[in-house]
Amino acid sequence: MRLVETEIARQVWKGMSCGCGDSAEHLAGDLLQLAGGRFRQEPSHVGFEGHVWSPAVLWEPAPAVTAVALAALADDVPATAREWFLDLLQRMVAGEATDHASARRGLDLPELCRDLAVRGLWLLYEEVMSNRSSGSAGTAFEILTVVEPDRARLHHVREIAADWLPLCCRTGQCDDAWRPVAAAGREGDPGAKAGPPPL
Ligand SMILES: [Zn+2]
Ligand SMILES: [Zn+2]
Repeated sequence: MRLVETEIARQVWKGMSCGCGDSAEHLAGDLLQLAGGRFRQEPSHVGFEGHVWSPAVLWEPAPAVTAVALAALADDVPATAREWFLDLLQRMVAGEATDHASARRGLDLPELCRDLAVRGLWLLYEEVMSNRSSGSAGTAFEILTVVEPDRARLHHVREIAADWLPLCCRTGQCDDAWRPVAAAGREGDPGAKAGPPPL
């Protein structure tokens, strides 16, 4: 629990606006609960839709939540919690737009989240290769299809992990909507308009 707890404590939730309209302060407790709490209790599910993400936008706390999800993957959280954090991370990298208030401040939240996730590349590859559960391996692989700039490496791992990856990952269906992170949103780049893969 130590790493995830440290990362939760490091973020300045108080100064952020949550998608629900309140201060994002409540997210610290919610994320800790998702990880199993301070004393390694059973993790319990908390929904972050309407607070951090919606099908349309990401809200201000999204990059902080991305950092916490990555710390959770590096930690020894229970398997159910790993799956929840992976699902949350997938929502963050698949974000399509930034809430109005953050956009006015010049923030591109989906891009910030994807930039953070790239730094956790090897955590995601480890999740794919360890095959702790096929659900987790598939979710980690799908996050990689969005953020991994080295497509040759991704395809190589896909071949190695073909036996346990879900069909959509094995067949490359998840790669269809890939766009390079650095080129996303650039003017005149036809690839920049492609959306993230369907969840
Ligand atoms: Zn909220
Ligand atoms: Zn897939």
